[in-house]
Amino acid sequence: MYPNTQLFIDGKWCAAASGRTMPVVNPANHQEIGTVAYAEKADLDRALEAADKGFKVWRKVSAFERSKIMRKAADIFRERAETTAKYMTFEQGKPVGEAKLEALAGADLIDWFAEEGKRAYGRVIPARAEGIYQLVVKEPVGPVAAFTPWNFPINQAVRKLSAALATGCSVILKAPEETPASPAELIRAFADAGVPAGVINLVYGSPAEISGYLIPHPVIRKMTFTGSTPVGKQLAALAGQHMKRATMELGGHAPVIIFDDADIDLAAKTMSFMKYRNAGQVCVSPTRFLVQEGVYKQFVEKFVDGTKAVKVGDGFDPATKMATLANPRRQSAMVEHVEDAKKHGGKLQTGGFPIGEKGNFFEPTVITELATDAMAMNTEPFGPLAIINPFKSFDDAVTEANRLPYGLAAYAWTKSTKTATAIASQVETGMMTINHLGFALPEVPFGGVKDSGYGSEGGSEAIEAYLVSKFVTQAGV
Ligand code: NAD
Repeated sequence: MYPNTQLFIDGKWCAAASGRTMPVVNPANHQEIGTVAYAEKADLDRALEAADKGFKVWRKVSAFERSKIMRKAADIFRERAETTAKYMTFEQGKPVGEAKLEALAGADLIDWFAEEGKRAYGRVIPARAEGIYQLVVKEPVGPVAAFTPWNFPINQAVRKLSAALATGCSVILKAPEETPASPAELIRAFADAGVPAGVINLVYGSPAEISGYLIPHPVIRKMTFTGSTPVGKQLAALAGQHMKRATMELGGHAPVIIFDDADIDLAAKTMSFMKYRNAGQVCVSPTRFLVQEGVYKQFVEKFVDGTKAVKVGDGFDPATKMATLANPRRQSAMVEHVEDAKKHGGKLQTGGFPIGEKGNFFEPTVITELATDAMAMNTEPFGPLAIINPFKSFDDAVTEANRLPYGLAAYAWTKSTKTATAIASQVETGMMTINHLGFALPEVPFGGVKDSGYGSEGGSEAIEAYLVSKFVTQAGV
């Protein structure tokens, strides 16, 4: 039903050299379902040696050939989407339908990067003298250390792997210990498609020990991390100290600005779907709803109705729309946020409590009129909590949207093109979606500003992050 997960080093699945493993727990019932191998220094040294060797091989494979292998991996991964989804629901909890869509979207992402990798063109700069060619050549940056979290075990890993592989880099992926089996399926698809030994390596263990060893290591030329802002800042500092290229996809606290002229029915329906997807454990999850006074009451009613209609249940029940939170830390964080919100005058409109004795379930929760100094107004809830506050003017909405150090995603709803243009230009955010949900397609940039990080995990910008430019000037003799 659920496999034990091994390391993948130099083209082979293996136990840790020490034989050490960690338990994997089903978040829906707290039962141990399997184990994952725990890599230590000896395993990391082998992975580094393999990645070094793999890079030397893979960078010489033409972009055209790399693309063929990647597309084969995408097909294999697509065929196995049901198995991957099942593992993901066991280990992460999310509804199995959502898990399958994540796996299928992962296959599409591999396909897109496989094509885009062929177009990593350099350029020719006109010279000042005859007979001289000035060339800018794009080369792969080198072996990459990638760190991915448990909320989207496939999506976060596949973005990094695909961009690295498309450009000719090798990778050591430290995937999430809490959700290890589904990302291992992704690696299996690449291996089965014929990616040479050493090009992809997969490890699990102590996140701090692994990042502390890999990032400074001379073999590693780039690091990429998805996770919380505090950890991201530590890893960015370490990367800076060792002059390593870095991509940081960190936390967010997305504002949703709903103007008086918005389509309130559509906004309430769309945003309640988006809020409770993956139980709110999404970096671009809508969190601070700012609703203009004229439609405030109407929006709250409709959004609360939408929230009450969310069916919470087991991830394997096809009727379930929201399942367990992925770990007990998130459930206790939700309890803490709600308690704190009550102390700060927030009105609990629905939800607010854990569900049942087993698992990490928590009710879809809406709190209104919450003071800006409440914890949930400042810290990413990363769970099924929506906060709705009224605003008067356009400027008030912009001031509140930009108040926090985060700048990952923002949402707006208005029928006025003038308002849409103005809000898109004034909110400090890496991504903005207006009147629909449009984030996270393979071909569009994905990333933040301010404390939400830097770099992109989508679009041609994501490819650029794995390339270095070499300038060559050449005279005929
Ligand atoms: P956390 O901050 O301890 O860990 C977040 C992620 O970073 C995990 O995947 C963890 O394994 C990894 N990590 C932690 N320390 C590390 C280190 N020294 N080196 C390398 N990796 C390290 O918290 P958590 O309880 O796992 O997650 C909670 C918070 O993390 C959430 O509130 C949310 O803000 C953030 N988060 C963000 C994303 C995202 O998609 N941006 C994903 C998961 C978690």
